[in-house]
Amino acid sequence: MNTFDCVIVGAGPAGLSAGLTLGRARRYIAVMDNGTNRNRVTQQSHGYLTRDGITPQAFKEAGVNELKNYPSVSYFHTTVTGIRKEFGGERMIVRTMDDETFYTEKVILATGVQEEFPFPSVREFYGKSLFSCPYCDGWEMKDQPLIIIADKEEHTMHMARLIYNWSSDLIVATNGVELSKDCAQELKERKIIIKTEPIKSLNGHNGYLEKIEFKTGETISRSGGFVVPSFYRPNQFAKHLGCEIDEDGTVATDGAGRTTSKNVYIAGETEKSASSSLIISAADGQKAAVSVNTDITLERF
Ligand SMILES: Cc1cc2nc3c(=O)[nH]c(=O)nc-3n(C[C@H](O)[C@H](O)[C@H](O)COP(=O)(O)OP(=O)(O)OC[C@H]3O[C@@H](n4cnc5c(N)ncnc54)[C@H](O)[C@@H]3O)c2cc1C
Repeated sequence: MNTFDCVIVGAGPAGLSAGLTLGRARRYIAVMDNGTNRNRVTQQSHGYLTRDGITPQAFKEAGVNELKNYPSVSYFHTTVTGIRKEFGGERMIVRTMDDETFYTEKVILATGVQEEFPFPSVREFYGKSLFSCPYCDGWEMKDQPLIIIADKEEHTMHMARLIYNWSSDLIVATNGVELSKDCAQELKERKIIIKTEPIKSLNGHNGYLEKIEFKTGETISRSGGFVVPSFYRPNQFAKHLGCEIDEDGTVATDGAGRTTSKNVYIAGETEKSASSSLIISAADGQKAAVSVNTDITLERF
């Protein structure tokens, strides 16, 4: 029978860490993942203690392999298409794209987020020479001629100030947005070039940026840079399960992964619908798993 104590949707660091904790706690769990983790486009992950420089694929494989040590854990490569409560929320039905049905007492949503870029061609370079997280990839880009692409002044200024310590050879491109006098002055004092004209195209080879062409016809050479995407949840599970979601898009929790909807827990980037990091997401996953195990323990003891 496909009946579990907990189904974990998503096997990024949040879901895998939750799975490991619940497997070690001898809970019957299913971990489901469809391989759409947003970091799959990059070659190396950095900053995860003891795993600095590991590929995203090797990280995921290592996490899935660790789950195999625990016989009460099942792993499914599949897409969850729907989660529905029944019996007043005492049980949930999880459906997958292969038309399989799973029954579970509790669910941890760990489905991450996805990015939307100021213009689609960023995708071609994202993860190889254009990045969004300086803590993840700033070191590799140090002292290079970089571009910062952001179309809101607060984002432009935040990125410029932050990236400056990795490389002072900076051009900021606002893609048509004018900066205030004070901000423009702050950048000019540091010899950061400002381009407010709209971008026509990004050009390079195999994901490595070489040139940016503006609609004015001007072209500049850059070997990479940082973009500020917006982030969104790739599904509506939290909403459909009745979780309270704040105005800023954050799913309300008790700080330990419990949502306001009974038996529904959340971990990793999908909670705030914003970017974080592998290590923070893994920690979130363990927190949510401890909440699940504590609740099951108190309910059944
Ligand atoms: C280009 C790039 C480089 C990065 N580099 C670093 C770095 O160097 N260091 C660092 O710490 N962080 C890095 N990050 C950020 C890091 O990848 C995230 O912070 C982290 O992966 C978030 O973990 P998560 O578990 O919340 O979500 P994810 O890792 O995104 O995992 C979510 C999982 O849910 C699954 N999923 C989604 N919907 C469904 C569904 N309906 N059914 C089944 N499965 C589903 C997906 O397949 C995915 O595997 C980088 C991100 C990007 C984009």
